[in-house]
Order: sequence, then structure tokens, then C-alpha cells
Amino acid sequence: MNNFILLLGGNQNDVIATCKEAIKLLSHRLGQPVRSSAYYESEPWGFEASQNFINQVVEFTSSCKPLELLNITQAIEKELGRQTKTGTHYESRPIDIDILFINDQIIDLPRLTVPHPKLHERLFTLLPLLDHWGDLEHPLLKKTIKQLALICPDKGIVKPY
Ligand code: AMP
Repeated sequence: MNNFILLLGGNQNDVIATCKEAIKLLSHRLGQPVRSSAYYESEPWGFEASQNFINQVVEFTSSCKPLELLNITQAIEKELGRQTKTGTHYESRPIDIDILFINDQIIDLPRLTVPHPKLHERLFTLLPLLDHWGDLEHPLLKKTIKQLALICPDKGIVKPY
């Protein structure tokens, strides 16, 4: 079995409703979530947008393989209205699903990098992780989520929604 920790988020339309729908669709393929964080709100990172982002971390346990999981998350992003990226920068989106951790695996494939390469740079990822996964150790950085949150250079405002 694999343990998947995912970050859901978006800043278009009713994000909470879209996150709930994403979890329902994920549950059809992966089974019920093991646990999930509260919702956190943050200002857009690196660009202007009319709506703030809302993020939530969700954990699943499933026999699904890592690349199968990526196919599932990308199909759900599409189904829930995400357009293909227009550029390399951050942009508004109804839903984004990032794979943060898969057990303590290190994966470096063209389509999939795990742990997610930006997770330690972003408070909007680290703060929801603190809800249940504060003692989890990053397998590459060898620091816990609590330690990573303390040294994170991101000074953006992230608050419970
Ligand atoms: P983003 O626009 O940030 O959702 O990035 C999507 C792209 O990142 C896709 O092409 C994925 O194949 C790739 N990718 C690499 N590693 C990951 C990961 N850990 N989680 C989600 N997408 C990933």
C-alpha cells in the first residue's frame, strides 16, 4: 500500500465546493481519505488575482502506483475545469492537485517529482501540513514539517479559512 499526501487548492469559483468534489472523485479511485487538514486561505503567490487561494491537505492510502496517481489527479483537474497552463508562471485555477509525499519515497521522473520540489518554500503548503503531519520528516531535506515551517523564507499571509 502507498500513503499519499496531496495538496488541493484553487482560486476560481467556489473553491471549497470544488475541493469537496475533488475529494469525492479521488475517493472513488483511492478509497476514503485517512485525514485532511482545515482549509487555509492565502494571497496569490507571485501574481495578481482577484480571488485568494484556498488550500487543503488530504491523505489517502491506496495500492495505486505513483504514476497512476498522477494520471488520476490530472484527469480530475481536467474534469473540474482546469485549463492547460498558458505559461510557466503561477496563474488562477479552479483546482490544482499537487502530490506532496508518497511514503518516504524519492521520485525523480520527467512527469513526477516527489517530495514535491516546492513544498518547503511555501507556507500555504506547510501550514495545512502542520494540522496532522508536523512530525513527518522530509526524506531529502531530513527535517520535519515543523522545522521546515520555522525556517521557511515565505513571508506571505496564510490563515485558516
Ligand atoms: P502545476 O501546474 O504546478 O500543477 O504542475 C503540473 C506539472 O507538474 C505536470 O506536468 C506534472 O507532471 C508535474 N509534476 C511533477 N511533480 C509533480 C507532483 N509532485 N505533483 C503534481 N504535479 C507534478
